[in-house]
Amino acid sequence: MSGKVESVFISIDMEGISGVVDWTQVGGDQKEYEYYRKMMAGDLNAAVESALEAGADEIVVSDAHGGMRNLYPEDVHEAAYLIRGSPKPGSMMEGIDDHFDAAMYVGYHSMMGTERGVLAHTISGRAVDSVYINGRETGEFGLNAALAGWHGVPSVFLSGDAAATAEAQSFVPGIKTATIKWAVGRYSAKIIHPKKSRALIKKTAEEALNNVGQVEPFRVDEPVEFRIRYVTPTMADVAALLPYVERIDGRTVKAVFDDYPTAMRGLRASIYIAGMAERTQ
Ligand SMILES: [Zn+2]
Repeated sequence: MSGKVESVFISIDMEGISGVVDWTQVGGDQKEYEYYRKMMAGDLNAAVESALEAGADEIVVSDAHGGMRNLYPEDVHEAAYLIRGSPKPGSMMEGIDDHFDAAMYVGYHSMMGTERGVLAHTISGRAVDSVYINGRETGEFGLNAALAGWHGVPSVFLSGDAAATAEAQSFVPGIKTATIKWAVGRYSAKIIHPKKSRALIKKTAEEALNNVGQVEPFRVDEPVEFRIRYVTPTMADVAALLPYVERIDGRTVKAVFDDYPTAMRGLRASIYIAGMAERTQ
């Protein structure tokens, strides 16, 4: 056992939310999106309640999916601050700093190319084939956990499908995870009832917060080398315009940075402009 948590940071994505199996449920103006925005709040509030049970007096939630305006303010537990809208320099982790006792991840998904991973992708499914940090292929969880780790904050809990929870455990030994669905394919899954997933999230997150000292902050060595393999050569053409970016081959670029937060900004800027490169997609 270790000290009581006071401040908890929660990054919430949407692909790993209860019931979600398809892109139509996580964006646009489709009816199903409206439904799953409510589901997102349900999973989130279970995590917020766990933080309150664990004694937290500050809970900051970063809406981390797409345009980052998925959660209706009124649906979010009133004990939490909500960071919403984009773009923001910290992106999915906007708001993280060294005063937090723990970081939690709700509704996360596995990296691009994962077998049986619901909506598996890395940052941009349209633009990014793979991201390597210091030679290790890394998905959104690892990228974000490393930012928390740079601030000395341990990543203690993640909810999502079985592929996402396995990926989290491969990066952060000791992280507690709630598996709330099992992919059949990229767009299909076996799910449990949302009431059950919320109960599982609440129970598991509370255990995690009561044992924060058992998980080391996840840190990557500095200087940091990023390698990004894009989907098309045009994307790499454009990414390579950035002065800090070096072209490796037709679809791959790399960059080296002294510190991780700067590396994350460099990575995001590269993906952002590369994503605008193709006219016919
Ligand atoms: Zn997302």
